[in-house]
Parts: sequence; structure tokens; C-alpha cells
Amino acid sequence: MNPYIQYMYSYPHKTAYRPLTGIRLADCAGSLSGPGCGLYLHIPFCQTKCGYCNLFSVTGAGTEEMERYLDAVERQLSQYRRTLEPAGTRFSDFTIGGGTPLLLNAGQLDRVFAMTESYLHFDENRSIVIETAPNQTDREKLQLLKGRGITRVSMGIQSFCDRELETLRRGHSGKKALEALELLLSFGFDCVNADFIYGIPGQTIQSLLESLERAVSLGPQEIFLYPLYVKHGAGLERELRDGMVLEPEKAFEQYREACGFLKSEGFRQDSMRRFVRRKSEGSWQSSIAQIVRGKSAASQQASMEQIIRGKSEHLRPFSECGFGTSLALGCGGRSYVGNLHFCTPYAITRQDCLRELYAYENTQDFTAVTHGIVLSREEQKRRYVIRHLLIRPGLDIGRYRERFGTEILKEFPLLSEWIEEGYLVQQSSPDEVGTNCGSGLRDVCCNPAQRKAESGWLVLTDDGLSLSDYLGPQLISREISEKMAEWETAHGQTN
Ligand code: SF4
Repeated sequence: MNPYIQYMYSYPHKTAYRPLTGIRLADCAGSLSGPGCGLYLHIPFCQTKCGYCNLFSVTGAGTEEMERYLDAVERQLSQYRRTLEPAGTRFSDFTIGGGTPLLLNAGQLDRVFAMTESYLHFDENRSIVIETAPNQTDREKLQLLKGRGITRVSMGIQSFCDRELETLRRGHSGKKALEALELLLSFGFDCVNADFIYGIPGQTIQSLLESLERAVSLGPQEIFLYPLYVKHGAGLERELRDGMVLEPEKAFEQYREACGFLKSEGFRQDSMRRFVRRKSEGSWQSSIAQIVRGKSAASQQASMEQIIRGKSEHLRPFSECGFGTSLALGCGGRSYVGNLHFCTPYAITRQDCLRELYAYENTQDFTAVTHGIVLSREEQKRRYVIRHLLIRPGLDIGRYRERFGTEILKEFPLLSEWIEEGYLVQQSSPDEVGTNCGSGLRDVCCNPAQRKAESGWLVLTDDGLSLSDYLGPQLISREISEKMAEWETAHGQTN
């Protein structure tokens, strides 16, 4: 059995989106009114193209091209304001992803914050998340981010082993990644996350653990572990054709060892990929010891403050996800407004990305929704199940009934099979759920410990969680599968 079929980070996949007509942003004003909306800005530029990348990003852009892109984003902001202002929309979280957002120079980065704040309204305690890469992480930009109140920084490290980084075609060295992570952590952001990849050809359990040990010793709050996928259009596709081999069984062994290591180091597992550092007394002491070792007084102070803040946040937050409102700016980002999901057409290859970028920068009317999907009730249920089941604390059966008026186990007999197979359990309450709500997205968001458990929870076992990329795709509807297959055929997907 190959455990790595598909990463279900959202549903439906963008390849199931199709052209839309007759829909405008103003038609969604009801869903956009008031506080609690999410905002996403996509910066589609990278220094080099990683061999596994199937994200919307292009290389080779200079200052002028990036300015032109930001000009288009500002036009989009200005047009969006005409709908959002009367609706009283307020954003509670803002994510800047890519691409590599920190490839923008400091002036351009500052412009991003200045223009979003001047056109949109944010909640006072909004969170701001940004992605970065080691080569683009420098003191000047981190100071700017700190000054702008960024709450979470996520860095794509992938490995500290140069041979593995070369195989992945990452543009940085292990040494550079180590320096960048140290520098990033010295700024005391509320949350620093480091991404790693396993299943890299030539990687061993030992080399993966060495990378993770180095990262853990520096003290990031979160670590994400991604299996290596090489999808259609990714640079490594050619190597695969020329004999490079991905070995899912080996990758799975690496993953199991890595999970065990991270848990032994005091990390809580929230999904197949996400590991969050627990703030137990033991791990606190080891974090403090690491801080005291050989760091400047200012750096020690920043890290201590970060640890103290974290102490009250060691429990897993719960939020009902999958139906939040989130608006995307730029080319390649995705908006979720009620049952309408929309974005620019999905593109992976350089040629396709450049074509979409050109079309975006020349868009006259950003408020016309021209590409996406309107989810039927059936698809909304599937989305709900996928978005809750693959992430702990899991799915609240009573809440599902309240939302849809139906019984989940009757509607999804597959889930009963998973219970029999030991991938899923039905239990009376979730594990390790805190009182702090994590998602700022507009939605019902509560502490379930204060809520009467009506029918219990469906929670993936550790075995089930480790097979999320195998189990999750089984929840895709036939209609969506057919649309995805149609896109793949049209775009020549071979794997
Ligand atoms: S994986 Fe990330 S850093 Fe690498 S090319 Fe893609 S978007 Fe850029």
C-alpha cells in the first residue's frame, strides 16, 4: 500500500475548479460582513524553483516585475474596498505566502503592510503569518516584520544535509539554513515553524533525525514534516523519468521514526504533518537551558518572553474549520466565501504561471469572480469531514448533526470501516483541547470542554493519522475525482 496518494490540505482541489460567470464579490457581501475574516496575500516569486514545487511561483523576477505585481495587488485592494467597506469587513488574520514573500526588498515588504492596512480594516489583536526561506531571511527584514507585529514565521528548511538539499534543488545550503533559523528564533516571534521533507532519494532515517535534532535543539515552536511528492509539472519529474525512484515504504519508516523522535522531545502531533511543542515543565527547562547557552542578553530576553507567552498556550486549540471566510489577494491565492471557492486558474509550469501572472496584472475588474467552484451541500459535508477528521482534535459528531441535520456515520459508512480497521476511534471527548481558539476565521469557534458532548468525537488513531494521505483521498466525491482527472488528462499528468 502506498501511504502517499494525495495531500488533502483543502477540498476540493483547485484542479476541480472551472470558469464561472455572473458572480461578483458584492454577491457575497453577507458572508463578508463584520469581524473574523481571514486574508491571504500570495507573493509568487522565488529565487530558484525547487524540484518538487507544484505551487504558483516563478523565478527571475527583478525589482521592477515585483513592483508591477504590487501595483496590481493595490488595484485589487482598492476595488475590494468598495465592497468590503460597506459590509464592515474586519480581518482577524493575515497570511502572506508564496512563493517566497521575503524575496521582496524591505521597501516592498513595508509597502505590503502599509497598503493592506490603508485599504482594509483589521481586528486589533489580528495575527499575521509570513513564509520565508533561509536565503531571504536577514536581520533587516526580520526587524521590519517584528516592527509590523508579525506573529508567526514559517521557514522552509527541508533538510540540513547538503546532498539532500541538492536533490531537492533547494537554493540554500545546510549551513545557511542553520544560521537563518538561529537568527529568526533570536527575534522572539510568538511562533516560529520549520518545514522538513522526508522520503528524499538517498535520505536515511539517521540523516532525517540529524536534521530534526538540530532544529529541535534551537527551539522552534512548531515543526512540519512533509513527504516528498513529485507531481506533474514539478522539476524532478524528469529525474523520475530518468530513473530516480521514490520509495514510499522507506519514507513511511522515516516518518514513523521522526514522529517518535518529535514526541519524545515534547511535541504534540496535531496532524500527519504538524507537530507543536508542548510547554511541559521538562521541555521548558531544556528550552531555557538552550537559551542561556551562548546567546546575547537581548536574544535571551526575547526567547524567554516567547517561552513565557507559550506556557499558557500548550493545549491544542479547537476551531470549527472549513467554513470560514478567507479572501485572497494576488495571483495564485484562493478565496473561500461561504460555499463559493475561487482563485486564478491552477498553474504549475513556468509557462502557465507566467501566463496567469500576466492575466492577473492586466485584470480590469478584480471583483468579477471568474474561476472557482460553488460547493453543493454534499460537497460541503465532504469538506467538513476532511477538514476536521485529518486534524486533531477531530470531528465533533453532535456539531456535524447541528450543522447538517444528519448522522455522519450513516452518511459516511467508510468511517465505520475505518473504525473497524483501527484507523479511527469514537470517543466521548477530544484529547488535549485548550480554551484558546486558534483560528481567527469567521466561524463558530468554542471550547468544546465547556460544551455538552452530545454524541462524542471521531478521532484518527496514530495509525490513521500517519495514513492521512491514503485515507483522506477516499473521501473525495466521484464528481470531484472526475473533474480532477479531466484536468490531469488535459495537462498531461503522468504520475
Ligand atoms: S517550494 Fe516554496 S521556495 Fe521552493 S520554489 Fe516552490 S514556492 Fe518557492
